[in-house]
Amino acid sequence: MKKIAIIGTGYVGLVSGAGLAEFGNEVICADSNKNKIDQLKSGKVPIYEPGLKSLVEKNVKMNRIAFSTDVERAICESEIIFIAVGTPSDDSGAADLSAVEAVSKIIAHNLNNYKIVCTKSTVPVGTGDWITKIIKKESSGKEFDYVSNPEFLREGAAVNDFLYPDRVVVGASSKKAFKEMREVYRSLYLNETPIVETGVETAEMIKYASNSFLALKISYINEIANLCEAVGADVHQVAKAMGKDGRISSKFLHPGPGFGGSCFPKDIQALHSLGKEKNVILNTVEATIKTNAHQKNIALEKILKLVDNDISDIRVAILGLSFKPNTDDIRESPSSYIVNELVDRGAKINAYDPVADQNFKSNFPDINYFNDWRSCVTGADICAVMTEWNEFRGIDLNELKSLLKHPNIFDAKNIYSVEKLKLLEFKFENIGRNF
Ligand code: NAD
Repeated sequence: MKKIAIIGTGYVGLVSGAGLAEFGNEVICADSNKNKIDQLKSGKVPIYEPGLKSLVEKNVKMNRIAFSTDVERAICESEIIFIAVGTPSDDSGAADLSAVEAVSKIIAHNLNNYKIVCTKSTVPVGTGDWITKIIKKESSGKEFDYVSNPEFLREGAAVNDFLYPDRVVVGASSKKAFKEMREVYRSLYLNETPIVETGVETAEMIKYASNSFLALKISYINEIANLCEAVGADVHQVAKAMGKDGRISSKFLHPGPGFGGSCFPKDIQALHSLGKEKNVILNTVEATIKTNAHQKNIALEKILKLVDNDISDIRVAILGLSFKPNTDDIRESPSSYIVNELVDRGAKINAYDPVADQNFKSNFPDINYFNDWRSCVTGADICAVMTEWNEFRGIDLNELKSLLKHPNIFDAKNIYSVEKLKLLEFKFENIGRNF
């Protein structure tokens, strides 16, 4: 059991904090956002993530997790400090490390004894070295070890991913640091979860290489989907058969309106920036970025095509606002792109999402929000299903047709049967199944 401070209690910080507490550690989650910490102290979980509330509640009851805005104190009282603040893209596409820098300085000023400083945030290769230098300088040479421990959880399945990871990556350069980190993840060692111990730079690279590869897979199947449409093939059958090949695997072969979220777009941009900085050609990475931008535009064009390219005064019902199901995260969501473009062209927007509407409202306060899909689509000229929430999979297409003003549907995630849509005489578009 280790005493752990998590600095930054967002998606990764909170899930990691609750997960590490579940592993038996004593965790304090600190954040500079008072509102977030107040919510957590009063028993509210500020994000929607299946299973997270009960995991937090259980560990609060067992006194294994607490919340605080007092970052300094959390550092002083802990043996291991996890940095879990955001690393968004800056204007050039590189990772903005200002929050990481600020936290590194606070850590340095509060190193009251030997500690491990461990980065969970996704940071470019070389950041570990940079953080180490900052802390050495600002702490006047106090003793600590640096560890890179990138996080691979997926929003929407984050709790399960954290508690039962495919692997844990620990990058360090001292035996003591590896030993301490084995203690932190002791229950996973007992489960025989693969723990990959590497140097710091390798650990940093593993995270970027993994995320960029998954993004590449999505862009690849999106391009194949577009070609399927042109030649009359069914991308679902293509992807399914490809996925049966163990060398390929079926994961991340789902075509759609382009990937979004808080990780893939910024991580692939950051990898691209790193390649440029180091003068290393990364053609596949560059192509993934271009393909994804193009795919978002293809999705927009499909909606426009359904109304013969005149969207002004057309009412579009958007079902699904989060970047994927089971999360309320709307960062870089395909719906954000689509709504922005449609509003610019004069469309009227109705919107519904089972959990993400409040977050969407802060970016798009002027569109119409509804509490259920039925009222959202009623009287609309087109329905665009942008996120594959189970609730939308279960929609009765007869009923949907009866509620819409015109039976136009853009099925961005291919969740409806083409045969049924044809039978009910919908005018429809999807991704790669327009046969
Ligand atoms: P987030 O924006 O949800 O959370 C970041 C938190 O850090 C916020 O609560 C913010 O208030 C806090 N913070 C910022 N500056 C601070 C400071 N100086 N002191 C204390 N707290 C501060 O971000 P996130 O989605 O949790 O991502 C965090 C990191 O983890 C990023 O590098 C991201 O790339 C990486 N990551 C995210 C995911 C994911 O699915 N979200 C998965 C793997 C890795």
